[in-house]
Amino acid sequence: MTSRPSVDPAAQTWRCLCCGALYVAPPPARARLPHVCTTLRDPATGLRRYRVGARDETLVQDRIGARPHLTDPGLGRILVAHGDALTAADAAQLAALQAAPAIGPSPFPDPPIDWPADPPMPADNG
Ligand SMILES: [Zn+2]
Repeated sequence: MTSRPSVDPAAQTWRCLCCGALYVAPPPARARLPHVCTTLRDPATGLRRYRVGARDETLVQDRIGARPHLTDPGLGRILVAHGDALTAADAAQLAALQAAPAIGPSPFPDPPIDWPADPPMPADNG
């Protein structure tokens, strides 16, 4: 019996082009946290601020029934390994992934979000 979270067979290893973070997406089933760039501390004020080009993969839906989209794609991301290359990686492997070139286009296009078509609106019979 394993306690490790199940890995989505479609999971890939990505590197954020804004903050440089490595992450697996889609994330494991029990850790459904999308990538959101960390903020930076302004040395002058000590306040946290958003990075320029920050990526936020949290899904938002602007209108009822509308297709959800990323909060902000920011500078995008690149594919650095097929499958989950992070779970079992050691420090040397993580460093190699930090420097790995993109597999495919850079930035990698965000795939469309699977979403059912809008249901027909009920007729307004007054
Ligand atoms: Zn990021």
